[in-house]
Amino acid sequence: MMADLGAEHADLREAIRTIHDYPKPGIAFRDISTLLGNPRAFRRAVDELVQPYAGAGISKVAGIEARGFILGGAIAHQLSCGFVPIRKRGKLPHTTVSISYALEYGTDTMEMHVDAVTKGERVILVDDLIATGGTASAAVQLLQKLGAEVAAACFVIDLPELGGADKIRALGVPVRTLIGFEGH
Ligand code: AMP
Repeated sequence: MMADLGAEHADLREAIRTIHDYPKPGIAFRDISTLLGNPRAFRRAVDELVQPYAGAGISKVAGIEARGFILGGAIAHQLSCGFVPIRKRGKLPHTTVSISYALEYGTDTMEMHVDAVTKGERVILVDDLIATGGTASAAVQLLQKLGAEVAAACFVIDLPELGGADKIRALGVPVRTLIGFEGH
């Protein structure tokens, strides 16, 4: 959503800190810890992300470890939904379903409890930022594997040049983002 690159949500944009060359040279890390620490910005981000989904029959919010837990927990509370953690391999104690996905170098695996969602349940997926969309598309596929209907994927930040949001839309899932940043 290139339109988001402008002044829209200027207050939220200002609440996000950019750390250049972290975790490696050339990356501009969009640090939402400053947004989370700002009471008005945190509330606003949660309110804006959930606004289209109030009364939309959503029963669960799935958050991607770890920043997706913070936003997703607040969103679930706001929508009176349950919360489902999507975690890195080996962290969940009960029987899991898993999916492996490509990283820049190698692969990673994420897991969910097999009984975390039921067939036909309407779920929204939450993370802080979508870049290439590799992480979120794996999470969508994991939810779909369990029979959930992924009603939307929500992110505070989009890096539109990396095409992640389009990748999620191509899976038939609407995407909501609040702020776009240029670059990686
Ligand atoms: P991707 O799978 O490429 O869409 O990457 C998304 C995941 O990596 C999210 O969980 C983000 O928190 C994290 N991430 C990727 N790029 C950045 C960045 N520039 N700043 C902060 N987090 C990032």
